[in-house]
Amino acid sequence: MKQPITIALSKGRILKETLPLLEQADIRPAEDISKSRKLIFDTNHEHIKLLVIRATDVPTYVEYGAADMGVAGKDVLMEYGGTALYEPLDLNISRCRLMTAGMVNAEPVKGRLKVASKFVNVTKQYFAEKGVQVDIIKLYGAMELAPIMGLADRIVDIVDTGNTLRANGMEPLELIAPISTRLVVGKAAMKMKHAQIQPIIEQLGQAVKAEAE
Ligand code: AMP
Repeated sequence: MKQPITIALSKGRILKETLPLLEQADIRPAEDISKSRKLIFDTNHEHIKLLVIRATDVPTYVEYGAADMGVAGKDVLMEYGGTALYEPLDLNISRCRLMTAGMVNAEPVKGRLKVASKFVNVTKQYFAEKGVQVDIIKLYGAMELAPIMGLADRIVDIVDTGNTLRANGMEPLELIAPISTRLVVGKAAMKMKHAQIQPIIEQLGQAVKAEAE
């Protein structure tokens, strides 16, 4: 009898790229996830279930053992912080960069730099390591609007092509970290369900390798 395994997937852009990898690792949802409003999906394996949740909730589900494994962007994992999760595999999908950005031809900032981001912890740590004192302004979306409206001097955000920044008169400035999507495993799950989890990690690893070739 196999122990049940729950894998938490990040919905949206990452999900679209995760499903083909899972498929190559012989894990297929029993129904079309994109056409359903369900949050829990059976798969072709009786013991494996998939959760489809917000990316920022994936580390929480996995840390507390409500899911055994998860798929989330390195940006989300960096912001979540801590050492509660194993990160055995870089899935090499949804690659992008976490960067600072500002207005093109911005005036030099007088006084403390105001930085808007949804990545508050990463932003705090990045500027602290540089020895720069900043005021951090938490936003939940459309970070590019903050410098335009004078709410902040800089933003910290994900940059892929840079089109979003350019369309708003901004430019990328400093690279904080290259980002890709990772497989994470909870510490308890890794210990208690190793026999079920290890083959999934290996098959996903093969799928990632096959994609790179
Ligand atoms: P771009 O205009 O191509 O630089 O894309 C920038 C916007 O797309 C960002 O504001 C992000 O919200 C989003 N984005 C781009 N790549 C990713 C990714 N890999 N994961 C999550 N969001 C992304």
